[in-house]
Amino acid sequence: MEAYVSVAHGALAFFGTCAGRGASKGKKKPKLPMGKEDIAMNTHNNRYAQGRRPGPRRRDRNSPLPMLVIALATLLVIALAIIIPRCASGGGDESVPAWSPVEATPTQALSAPTATPAPQATQAVQAESSGAQEGENAATQTAGDPAATPAAGTAPGTDASALPQASPTSESLSDDSYTADEVHGPRPTAEADGYLPVFSKAETTEKIIAITVDDCFQADNLRQIIQCAIDYGGKLTILPIGKNLERESVQEAIRYAYENGMELENHTYTHPAFYRMSTEDMAREIYLNNRAVSVTLGVDYQMHFMRTRGGDNRHDLRTHQYIKKMGYYGMAHWTLSGSSASVDTLKNTLAPGNVYLFHTTDNDLSKLLGFIPYATQQGYRLVTLNELFGYPENETSPLSEFDMPEPDPYVIEEYKLVNKKNNYIYDVYLIQQRLIELGWLHDTADGVYGDATYMAVGYFQKAIGMQPNGDATPETQEALFADDAPRSNDGRTVAGSAAEQAAQATPTAAPTSTPVHTTAPRNIQPGPTVDMTLFD
Ligand SMILES: [Zn+2]
Repeated sequence: MEAYVSVAHGALAFFGTCAGRGASKGKKKPKLPMGKEDIAMNTHNNRYAQGRRPGPRRRDRNSPLPMLVIALATLLVIALAIIIPRCASGGGDESVPAWSPVEATPTQALSAPTATPAPQATQAVQAESSGAQEGENAATQTAGDPAATPAAGTAPGTDASALPQASPTSESLSDDSYTADEVHGPRPTAEADGYLPVFSKAETTEKIIAITVDDCFQADNLRQIIQCAIDYGGKLTILPIGKNLERESVQEAIRYAYENGMELENHTYTHPAFYRMSTEDMAREIYLNNRAVSVTLGVDYQMHFMRTRGGDNRHDLRTHQYIKKMGYYGMAHWTLSGSSASVDTLKNTLAPGNVYLFHTTDNDLSKLLGFIPYATQQGYRLVTLNELFGYPENETSPLSEFDMPEPDPYVIEEYKLVNKKNNYIYDVYLIQQRLIELGWLHDTADGVYGDATYMAVGYFQKAIGMQPNGDATPETQEALFADDAPRSNDGRTVAGSAAEQAAQATPTAAPTSTPVHTTAPRNIQPGPTVDMTLFD
């Protein structure tokens, strides 16, 4: 009886600890499985059990109390059987959804050594912690973090200071849905004219899914996600920002994932917007990420997939050309962003071949600690991107010092229609630069086909006698990039023309309304009609 009471008290102590952690959502980071916090918790547990163990009580022989205590203890033991696996695998956050009950799986202790906090690491951990709720905001914190400066993972002989700094701009996840026409057959096929495939989903009936984890600002969370996948017999594909690999704690987590058969893929070195970078800088971002992973793993590691910030750049021919040169297979996109999706959506849309995007925020961690067991229980296997799409594992060879492959100059062999549906590609940036150079656009080139670009193209079309529609058609681009392309001073008429002189004499008011929206989802067709008076 006394043993039961003791167990019950221990259970209460454990339960209390779990509930306490659950209530601390957003303030305290979930613990590492069997890490220091566990040890502390267990010690506390034992002390509690020993210190508070009730002594023999004198009871009335006829009292119903013993039966009540036995019943209570039994209930608690049953409750424990359900609760402990969740707690032990790092869960306990109340925001974790009420996934279907999952069979207990023994949690393995991390075999890799726990990160030893170096003096510098403290700041890094603080940055991770404070940026926990908004993964991309964490970039802001980490970018200026002194702990992130040592170039442990940079390529030898590369001047890291010459790199563009990590952009604190939020990752655009508005573009997180795939379209069915991006998938052709079990393995997405390449588009024509030098494009590589965009891998958003595999067409398969086998119950396999790929969970991809991006950025990796929060090393502790990353480690817990990796451990959870291991515990459920699954594998992840991890796409760290190269710069985050300058931190020892992230390196250790990545090595641990690799040792357990997981896959690493490219997510740039500083998380920039490729579509407005020079070709040289873009190439360096790709090369340095792969190099940082290679140095971390101690082997030359041939990646197969590239994903840029927010996946925005995935249809950019220039990037496709360079990753092809690097031996990559294509762009890794996703079927569903777990970072944006609700728990219900994650559950209801679980399907063979899905690719999921997650980050290492506290929020994503708690979702994954529910989703991974849930998917496993539904009969799904977590596989790497390579396995999902039927490719061999990423190749390795002894670590060498191979130099960055020089990017080929970007040459557009044939102009293609570029309009508001083709945002976030370098072609837009080039068109904007040319419009600015000729005086048709008074703005900054940013690679986003917004209202100003649309209007400038329309006025240019009108000036060369084309029917203006604001789309950079192949014919429009032929004229725009021609040596004798007309210039403008006012952005509306050809410089020196009678119309321009008249416009300067009596300036007309700018259009008062802007009927075209730039924030429309990428895949929505813009309205078929264009208000021609816009270009008057
Ligand atoms: Zn990212």
